[in-house]
Amino acid sequence: MKQSVHYFLLLLIAVSFSQCKQAEKEAPSASVETEFQWVADTVADLRILRYQVPGWDKLTLQQKKLVYYLNQAGLAGRDIIYDQNYRHNLAIRKALETIIDTYTGDTTTPEWQNLLAYAKRVWFSNGIHHHYGNDKFLPGFSKDYFSGLLSAAGGTLSEEAMTAMFDPEVDLKKVSSDASGDLVLQSATNFYAPDITQAEVEAFYSSRIPKGEKNPISHGLNSRITRNEKGQLQEELYKADGLYGPAITEMIKWLTLAAGVAENEPQKKALELLIQYYQSGDLKTWDDYNIAWAQATEGDIDYINGFVEVYNDPLGYRGSFENIVQIKDFEASDRMKVLSENAQWFEDNSTILPEHKKSNVVGITYNVVNVAGESGDAAPATPVGVNLPNANWIREQYGSKSVSLGNITEAYEQASGAAILEEFAHDEEEIARAKEYGALGDKLSTALHEVIGHASGQLNTGVGTPKETLKSYSSTLEEARADIVALYFMMDPKMVEIGLMPSLEVGKAEYDGFISNGLMKQLRRIEPGKDVEEAHMRNRQLIAAWVYEKGKPENVIERVTRDGKTYFNITDYDKLRVLFGELLREIQRIKSEGDYFDGKALVETYGVKVDQALHQEVLNRVKPFNIPPYAGFIQPEFVPELDANGEIIEIKVTYPDDFVRQMLEFGKKYSFLK
Ligand code: ZN
Repeated sequence: MKQSVHYFLLLLIAVSFSQCKQAEKEAPSASVETEFQWVADTVADLRILRYQVPGWDKLTLQQKKLVYYLNQAGLAGRDIIYDQNYRHNLAIRKALETIIDTYTGDTTTPEWQNLLAYAKRVWFSNGIHHHYGNDKFLPGFSKDYFSGLLSAAGGTLSEEAMTAMFDPEVDLKKVSSDASGDLVLQSATNFYAPDITQAEVEAFYSSRIPKGEKNPISHGLNSRITRNEKGQLQEELYKADGLYGPAITEMIKWLTLAAGVAENEPQKKALELLIQYYQSGDLKTWDDYNIAWAQATEGDIDYINGFVEVYNDPLGYRGSFENIVQIKDFEASDRMKVLSENAQWFEDNSTILPEHKKSNVVGITYNVVNVAGESGDAAPATPVGVNLPNANWIREQYGSKSVSLGNITEAYEQASGAAILEEFAHDEEEIARAKEYGALGDKLSTALHEVIGHASGQLNTGVGTPKETLKSYSSTLEEARADIVALYFMMDPKMVEIGLMPSLEVGKAEYDGFISNGLMKQLRRIEPGKDVEEAHMRNRQLIAAWVYEKGKPENVIERVTRDGKTYFNITDYDKLRVLFGELLREIQRIKSEGDYFDGKALVETYGVKVDQALHQEVLNRVKPFNIPPYAGFIQPEFVPELDANGEIIEIKVTYPDDFVRQMLEFGKKYSFLK
């Protein structure tokens, strides 16, 4: 399951997984020390950023080849996500590319500018629907203008696809979550042929999926549902000789090369199983692959490749194609190891009730990696962390891999600038501390959240899982607990003692950032009049609002108004820590006892409602900065150098800064589907 950046979380996504979905917080750091240009472009509500690949030069040639081949494999599958998102996306994208590639007219006219902006949005969202909001965006130019350019460029587009582009009534939602209607008919995604209904799909799977199936395969993950000649539903498999065959065949070619330069046997075996799966489309092989992949933990290079996340299917069966190539971040991973080794100390010294403590806690394995390339559903918009495989029984029996994408997080931080931090910080000391320690504080609190927070605590005997007892509040409360474990220990001298922070100033910076984010900054992602809906945003407001209220008698956090602007200033960090500890004990009690009533009260009282006046103030204050809420990335490119025999002798990495050029090139080079 992917962990998305906070910026993306404007709407509630109902996620049917219990695993963590740690999202990026407001970037705390504002240090811009390098010459590297992090922001390349902006269009509509999108920013196009760049990222670097640290550690590339430390890799051996064989490792560089592995990265290169895995990345090529991902790009070979790039067309698939367009087609999965909507059946007309590929044709529309190709028509746009044909026009832009050959256009020699005036590039300063509003119509041309609007066409270019539309194309950028299509590339960014892998189709004509907003990547996050799911709504179709409409062109800011006329159909006649478009048709004229297209025929001048020698291109064509069907009338149906034209209508899809320009008609504001047709296929408006990529994925519908309006359960009062037919989710399948209402959704434009191409996982089901257009006339197929939700009831038909449900009947299809209820007759096929055995009740109480042990170790179930991921039914429907790699297929499109169509109707056969008799009108019955059937699965068309994504495989080498099936749907998306040309792209999958190309992928297999690169994966075979990758298997040939694998770092070790387990990694090689996993790649071979992935190839087999792409050849056969057999979901049992997909499971075998996932088991092998989850157990291949030794190499420095890792990757995600497949039809993985099911968010884009309104019924949650079908996986969107994605590819992420990763290089281990050794320094950061060592940090996680130190935490993991001390997991029992943290559990013993936590504020939770003795009966809720684990006597033998095992820290969750968590790695920081640097991304070398992304494709499909993971690009240009990317998660900041991923926790896979998704099949629960594989996770339980064979383990899982949880990674944080370090260089992506870094790029967000670098691109964010100091403006928002300075606007909401109470004083100069707070700003200086954030600049010096904010980035480290963020890394450490994320690590504590993942390694210690999610591993902590136990349920009372006989109490059902949090999903069963706390129902729709379970993920907010689980994330709140993980966040608050992190907050509690961020001010613990133990963190200095085990060498993770130079001083508790790091913890103070984290406290400052957390409080101003939870009470104010994050409100900028919510539309006026709306409640807080997304689980992470709810949990952060819940924690901040609770400690603010409980600390009022002693003025632990003071609310200051200066020049008509509101600030929250922490007056006593130690007392604040005590309050965090109290809330931690209470949330763990709610979870351990499965106390739905108190859990609901906590979330509804502190996490949901927004102070309308303060919200408006926040929106007014951030408006001048004009920072688009969504971001995605231009990919690094890898250039092999060949010797006289055509053997690769070196691979260089470059960081392009022209989004349009990269998209046009990718469109030509990796065009395997019609
Ligand atoms: Zn989490």
